[in-house]
Amino acid sequence: MRIGLGYDSHPFDPSRPLRLGGVAVPGHAGLGGHSDGDAVLHAVIDALLGAVGIGSIGDLFPDTDPELAGADSRVLLADAVRRVEGENYQVVNVDVTVVAEAPRIAPHAKAMSETMAETLHVAPGAVSVRGKSNEGLGWIGRGEGIAVLAVVLVDSIKDLDTLHASIRSGG
Ligand SMILES: [Zn+2]
Repeated sequence: MRIGLGYDSHPFDPSRPLRLGGVAVPGHAGLGGHSDGDAVLHAVIDALLGAVGIGSIGDLFPDTDPELAGADSRVLLADAVRRVEGENYQVVNVDVTVVAEAPRIAPHAKAMSETMAETLHVAPGAVSVRGKSNEGLGWIGRGEGIAVLAVVLVDSIKDLDTLHASIRSGG
């Protein structure tokens, strides 16, 4: 087994829709950035790549790549999962903490878990998402942006048939 830690931060950009964990979060400014700005998925991708030791999101999906402008980060996550499974590892579980004064994460946490779990080839219960305020401190406290921490556990795939059966059953 191996673990990976991912961190990402983005400034809010009121001209963009907010997407977090692959889910649309209406009623709040979106996040600036080269892709769709989904800091949750970016942190999870970096944790995945770190767990297996195959680089970082900046290496694989550089923000200088014009094809990635406005990209759906779910596509990037699916690519990262393919690379992880290509190294003979499968995801065991993911734990995500979103640090922001707003929006509230709790009402969207289940949808985020389910969306990410499908791409990660795990059951929704294996993907935990929580929100945490920064108690008014610093740039997060001033509502300038959002930070995300993600931890991922992966295990080596001993039996590909078991993995494929688990993917088919959604768990
Ligand atoms: Zn990012």
